[in-house]
Amino acid sequence: MKNLAPDITVIGAGPVGCVTALAFAHKGADVVLLEATNKQTRRFAGEWLHPPALKVLKHLNISLDSYIENDTNGQGFVVFAEDITEPIYLHYPDGLKGFSCEHNRVIASLRAAVCNCKNIDFRSNSRVRAIQQQQLSVQDGQHRELFQISTQLIVGADGRSSIARRSLNIPHTPKLISYMAGVLLENVELPFEGFGHVLLGGLGPVLAYRIGQNQVRLCLDVPINFCKQNLNLWEAYRNLLPRLLLDAFQRALEKNQVVWAANQYSSRIHYGRPGL
Ligand SMILES: Cc1cc2nc3c(=O)[nH]c(=O)nc-3n(C[C@H](O)[C@H](O)[C@H](O)COP(=O)(O)OP(=O)(O)OC[C@H]3O[C@@H](n4cnc5c(N)ncnc54)[C@H](O)[C@@H]3O)c2cc1C
Repeated sequence: MKNLAPDITVIGAGPVGCVTALAFAHKGADVVLLEATNKQTRRFAGEWLHPPALKVLKHLNISLDSYIENDTNGQGFVVFAEDITEPIYLHYPDGLKGFSCEHNRVIASLRAAVCNCKNIDFRSNSRVRAIQQQQLSVQDGQHRELFQISTQLIVGADGRSSIARRSLNIPHTPKLISYMAGVLLENVELPFEGFGHVLLGGLGPVLAYRIGQNQVRLCLDVPINFCKQNLNLWEAYRNLLPRLLLDAFQRALEKNQVVWAANQYSSRIHYGRPGL
């Protein structure tokens, strides 16, 4: 396989990597974007985009396939606190709007924008194995061979187990805070359409938001001292949920429409060296 020598090499085609690659490409740089996986992501991860994220996408001319300009969704949040009867509205200021949709749809839109950009050479199934100064060794998963990239700037946008961070010998010891169960509710109305719903006072807080015309995501925060395999989500959360959502919640649990993620914390640090 031919070795490459782009101006910029971005590791990881998640939200950060795609947007970074597009930003450099728009400035005229020649960019290689490397993504380890080959498949469309099915991860349960970021689904709510706050207004600053939408501003960046607009600035870079990136459109999300499911985004509707005048949609009433994404106006802010409504909080149901346990000791207060009236919900608390938290509108975004100045009429700004956020947006929510399934994580994989966000990624698919970003990768489509990347593929349409002539300055970006997007390579999926390409895992960075080693970084030595400005040289990367990359495993081409399809042809099962290594190729080399020599580049002026490396951007590590490779998530939690970043090889870029490891190459700088920066320790990474995230702390597990809680688990998150993502439950997909179908054909259901939210009490306050247009808003994310924050429900406090249960086993752990709950966030509910619309991710499609017929779909609402419930994010149930589960404390780490509960064994998630044995936890009965229905019993644990039904008293916290608005009555409107209960039937759909029960149906979703019966169909096992539950995905899990870990909430981990690590303190924000700035790191890098010239060229990375
Ligand atoms: C349950 C959950 C809910 C969340 N909700 C929200 C939300 O509502 N709003 C919000 O803003 N954020 C949310 N987040 C956070 C958000 O999902 C992350 O901040 C975001 O995905 C990080 O993007 P990223 O591009 O940095 O990393 P990632 O999304 O982790 O992408 C990294 C990419 O790098 C690739 N990669 C890794 N190693 C290599 C390698 N060696 N070579 C090549 N490629 C590699 C991976 O395959 C992956 O595609 C949530 C996260 C979780 C888990």
